[in-house]
Amino acid sequence: MLVLGLETTCDETAAAVVSLGADGRGVILSNEVFSQIAQHSAYGGVVPEIAARAHAEVIDRLTARALSAAGVGFSDLHGIAAAAGPGLIGGVLVGLTTAKTLALVTQKPLIAVNHLEGHALTPRLTDGIAFPYLLFLASGGHTQLVAVRGVGEYLRLGTTVDDAMGEAFDKVAKLLGLPYPGGPQVEREAQNGDPDRFPLPRPMLGREKPDFSLSGLKTALRLEAERVAPLNAADVADLCASFQAAVVDVVVDRTRVGLKLFREAVGHPTALVAAGGVAANGAIRRALSRLAGEAGLRLVAPPIELCGDNGAMIAWAGIERLRLGLSDDMTAPARARWPLGAPDPAPVTV
Ligand code: ATP
Ligand code: MG
Ligand code: FE
Repeated sequence: MLVLGLETTCDETAAAVVSLGADGRGVILSNEVFSQIAQHSAYGGVVPEIAARAHAEVIDRLTARALSAAGVGFSDLHGIAAAAGPGLIGGVLVGLTTAKTLALVTQKPLIAVNHLEGHALTPRLTDGIAFPYLLFLASGGHTQLVAVRGVGEYLRLGTTVDDAMGEAFDKVAKLLGLPYPGGPQVEREAQNGDPDRFPLPRPMLGREKPDFSLSGLKTALRLEAERVAPLNAADVADLCASFQAAVVDVVVDRTRVGLKLFREAVGHPTALVAAGGVAANGAIRRALSRLAGEAGLRLVAPPIELCGDNGAMIAWAGIERLRLGLSDDMTAPARARWPLGAPDPAPVTV
């Protein structure tokens, strides 16, 4: 089974071709990503209108490149998948409309994929793990602990009550004068910093429900930064290290509670999974790997290039759906908001 996947929900235009391997894992035949970071960096964040235009400008060339890099043509495909949300609606429309057009012309099934399901199923593409597993999903727009019981079967155990974790990294970076996107910058600075210099809060620590809160932590960091300003290089490194250490403590504590809840509600997980852009963070990966070990589990986290947004995860989610007989028709809506596990929207009659 061979599926093309398109991703345009935020600031990466991506197209990939993935096939279903004999061992049940995915084989990534091509994975083209065009990052718009340069177009947005002057604004310190993603500008929706610029993003939508940039997606429209490159999506067909990128699709052609993904096909030729994979050495396949449209006629070889079994389906065409696109992320249909959640995300910036202008961008989502570009990818979804492209996929609908290609599906219509080539008479192939369309799969309208939830971008978060793409992140959530990536460890099955890379490692072929079985259901059910506990997913720590942390990205630019989401921070959740989810029991993944099957394709389309997601039980949200906890979520952030304010900022997403990636968003918090990005805001901290901006505050400290580091370029966008902030996560990798903060991680790099933290490597040379003292994590104990600034006593930052660990919001939600010890709470019974595995929710997250990050805006207070970000504010506490801002106050410390203002107190020591003007900042020298060592101050910036120490602030980043202190922030990252607080985040790691919170992630470990919340995930430990998530594991307990999982065992009560679902049973024994096959693995602990970290996915989404923030899962690229080495300190978080190491801490979660330790936690998994203590719980007698394995941490499965995608390689760095599959943590952030990409087309391969969308193609893979397309394969997972298609092999269950699931596909969509031309009324599949583009959705700005689309929580994991929400029921499918009623089809719109045009
Ligand atoms: P969503 O998946 O919720 O729709 P998104 O697609 O914009 O949001 P991703 O592309 O999955 O988010 O992840 C991007 C986020 O990951 C950014 O906020 C970025 O700062 C963060 N990130 C990337 N690398 C790291 C890192 N090494 N440490 C911490 N955060 C990181
Ligand atoms: Mg992105
Ligand atoms: Fe994402």
